Amino acid sequence: AAPLPEPDTPGPRQPVVSGGGLSLLEARGVSAWFGSHRVLEGVSLVMGAGEVTALIGPSGCGKSTFLRVLNRMHELVPSASLAGEVLLDGGDVYGRGWRLQDVRRDIGMVFQKPNPFPAMSIYDNVVSGLRLTGRRVSRDVKDEIVVRSLVSAGLWGEVRDRLRQPGGGLSGGQQQRLCIARALAVRPRVLLMDEPCSALDPTSTRVIEETMGQLRREVTIVIVTHNMQQAARVSQRCAFFLASQGMPGQIVEYGDTDAMFSEPQDERTFDYVNGRF
Ligand code: ADP
Ligand code: MG
Repeated sequence: AAPLPEPDTPGPRQPVVSGGGLSLLEARGVSAWFGSHRVLEGVSLVMGAGEVTALIGPSGCGKSTFLRVLNRMHELVPSASLAGEVLLDGGDVYGRGWRLQDVRRDIGMVFQKPNPFPAMSIYDNVVSGLRLTGRRVSRDVKDEIVVRSLVSAGLWGEVRDRLRQPGGGLSGGQQQRLCIARALAVRPRVLLMDEPCSALDPTSTRVIEETMGQLRREVTIVIVTHNMQQAARVSQRCAFFLASQGMPGQIVEYGDTDAMFSEPQDERTFDYVNGRF
């Protein structure tokens, strides 16, 4: 096979498949239920363009549910229901004119456990992300997208000579970056990351954190993390979720990450960020 095009320096070429770019994502008064069990109540949050927003809080307070509401995965659960609005650059993603597929394309997701297609090649794993476009893409454009996505995911240098090898042969941290590359293939406007490093070793975690520092220049990032040091390292804004005494999950405190860690305004935030529960 012919060698793939080298990325232009200083940055890679950027073939546009989706809108791409930095977008403002806003939740307004989001409440979510599974059957009669309300897990979120009146959650409002602005996730700024070009920023990393970290969602922190104890297990079970609705962080993953909130992410799934943002990209309409929540509605795939038969018992699930929802109130409120999710606006992407001002347009309600639950409104008319948005197909589910368009929302998934513009708001990508990466999960805790790296889930590339293990038997599929690294190249095809990235290309598989394009299924969300519903468009045929030429071989040349695919090549460019694969290079661009792997560069953005911080994986290109490690896999450029083995693109035809199976994704399952990579280390855990590399597999997670492959999943990030797959999500980036369509040039999403927002990337949701649900504990993306929880299954990884500290070295792989640091590599992904460094990647995120670059990535936020091209995609708005929302990350759920249990790791307070990680939240402090990667995010500019932070929202603390809490579901106390049978109450549904709510945002207790939101703000600039540095300020929230150094001078939390709410006693419960103070206790949480200092590992008291
Ligand atoms: P977190 O990510 O903060 O740990 P989750 O969003 O996963 O919290 O869960 C919030 C609450 O919703 C929990 O009580 C959980 O048991 C419940 N829940 C999550 N997913 C489902 C589901 N598919 N069906 C029913 N209940 C669910
Ligand atoms: Mg979760």
